Amino acid sequence: MILCYRGMRERTQTTKGHRPMSRIVPDIDTLDQHLHQLEFHPEIYCPVCCPHCGIGTLWRHGDYYRKADRERRDGDRLDPVPIPRYYCPGCRHTCSRLPSGIAPRRWYLWAVQQAAIAFVLGGRSFRRSAGKCQPNRRTISRWWQRMKERFALHSFHLRNHFPALGRHASISSFWPACLEQMSLVDAMTWLDRDGVVIP
Ligand SMILES: [Zn+2]
Repeated sequence: MILCYRGMRERTQTTKGHRPMSRIVPDIDTLDQHLHQLEFHPEIYCPVCCPHCGIGTLWRHGDYYRKADRERRDGDRLDPVPIPRYYCPGCRHTCSRLPSGIAPRRWYLWAVQQAAIAFVLGGRSFRRSAGKCQPNRRTISRWWQRMKERFALHSFHLRNHFPALGRHASISSFWPACLEQMSLVDAMTWLDRDGVVIP
């Protein structure tokens, strides 16, 4: 019951009665792919309807820029990247969707986060995990803390979609099993579709 309530409470991105809009555009895993799609197929970023009021016709409303990949060095740098924004003439809100590689609120790509979390799940310390990938120990520790805080909610929703994951009760058992079936971004996409705040 508590989980259901928390889940309901988190559905803040949508108005009552509307199915939550997925904020993730699938299958765009790198910044290069994103820039290519944005140039040649920008329509795939347009939400089907306004996440605030449900109106079905949105107008392109420029771009905003965000940093997305701290791993890249100058000279090979695509950051910050444009993210298309859309305007709803009905309620005058703007909205946008992120390509699947880019994580909301974090400057590292999902793939980098998954690699770091995999090291932690494999039993490495934060310090040793940081030695294996770019984010520092404190960043990885923060990600792991967040995963622990969200575990009950995330696992509840993912088990609804993938009942076999119900066999894995603990976080140290659940996430390796989940990441064997799908990438971290795929798992987050499922959660995002359910209206759960990610990561
Ligand atoms: Zn609207």
